[in-house]
Order: sequence, then structure tokens, then C-alpha cells
Amino acid sequence: MRPDGRKNDEMRKIEAKVGVIEKADGSAMFKIGNTIAIAGVYGPKPVRPKHLEDPEKVLLKCYYDMYSFSVPERKRPGPDRRSIELSMVIKNALLPAIFVKEYPKSQIDVFVSIVQADAGTRCAAISAAAMALADAGIAMKDIVAAVAVGRVNNEIVVDLTKEEEDIEGTTDMPIAYMPRMKKFTLLQLDGKMPADDIKKALELAKTSCEKIYEIQKKALKDKYLKMRENENKD
Ligand code: UDP
Repeated sequence: MRPDGRKNDEMRKIEAKVGVIEKADGSAMFKIGNTIAIAGVYGPKPVRPKHLEDPEKVLLKCYYDMYSFSVPERKRPGPDRRSIELSMVIKNALLPAIFVKEYPKSQIDVFVSIVQADAGTRCAAISAAAMALADAGIAMKDIVAAVAVGRVNNEIVVDLTKEEEDIEGTTDMPIAYMPRMKKFTLLQLDGKMPADDIKKALELAKTSCEKIYEIQKKALKDKYLKMRENENKD
């Protein structure tokens, strides 16, 4: 039994909403347990500074920020090594889903704010950002869904909490996956795990990402159904 009573293959409660920032071109909120990510997408727009312009494909910029008040021990505000690494990890996990050649000489900015953190923030950030990109109308091959799997007390589990991450000997493996294309776009490993366990964990990540994908699709559809309802009222 896990500390919060979940089964090994059970994720925390998930909520997803699309269209949460009015002034963004696309936006979304993804909540998994006590971890909340809010993503805003701005663009496509001209590249600034201009010398970074790519005549062949889009320039994707990602910014991950964890708020000071999001964690029990106040985090120093502003960028640090961790946020710079996570911004890169998030960008690399999202890029394979985008038709990059559709947007030559253009830039797309993705801002993700972690307003509450209880582990799994990079994965929540990716799941939120993928919905926000789709909401912005960016041409995409697939939606990216992400979740951490790992080994806690010698059991393979999905969606670790901070409490589980802190148990001695825990291995944490954040995964991003494109369910329709059946391709992984992120695999990190913090700790040690035998090859057989890695295979089991990847299978668990796949089935869990497929569940997240359904929630993401529903959140996208819900926004457009609501828009249509409002149009019909006018
Ligand atoms: N964390 C924290 N303070 C920090 C950084 C992280 O309390 O300055 C916590 C937070 O709950 C975060 C967790 O540690 O979700 C795990 O962080 P990690 O860097 O492993 O990334 P994540 O699992 O959030 O993707």
C-alpha cells in the first residue's frame, strides 16, 4: 500500500481545463493531486532578436517557473539551474509533436507556471503546455501526455508524490509520450533500476499517458463546445 493509499498503477486525481488565460493565444491548466501547472502560449509571431530566426522552422521557447509559495519551504524567486534545465526538457518533449516547418521565421513562446508543487511538476508542465499549444491552433501531429513512474519500496508505481520521492532508494522516471504516434519524447531517470523494471515502468507510463490523453482531449473539446453554446446564445 502506498503512503496515500493508492494502487501502484493509480494516478492522483487529475483535472484539466483549456482557455484559462484570456490574453494568451492558447492556455491550459493541468492539476494532478496537489501539483498544479498553468501554461500560456504566445505566437506564432516574428522572431526577436531577429538573428535567431530560422528560415526553415519555428523557434520554440519554453519558460518553466515554480512560484516561491508553491512548495512548503519557500523557493527563491526567479530562474535557477533547475528551472533552466526543466525549460529545456519541456521544450525537447514538446518539439516532436509540432509541425515545425509550418512556421518558418516564427517564434512560439510557452510559459509554464507551477503554482503548487508536490512532485511531478515537469510532467504536469508538459501535459498543460501540450493542451495550450493545441488551444493556440498550432499544427500538431499529436498531443504530448506526461507522467512520472518509478520504483518505491521495490514496487513499480505511477505518479510519485514528494513523500514517495523522498523515501530512501526511490527511483523516479519522468516520461512524456505521444499516444497516437506511440512515441516517447522524454525519458529521464533519477536513481537506479534493473532493465526489467524499466520495461515494466515504461509500460505503466504508456497506459497512464493514454489515460491523461483522454482527459486532455476532453478538456479541449469542452472549451469548443462551450464556445459554440455561447455563439448560439448570441
Ligand atoms: N521541490 C521543492 N523545492 C524546490 C524544488 C523542488 O520543494 O526548490 C519539490 C517539489 O515538490 C517538486 C519536487 O521537489 O515537485 C521534485 O522536484 P524535481 O526537481 O525532481 O522535479 P519534478 O518532480 O517536480 O518534475
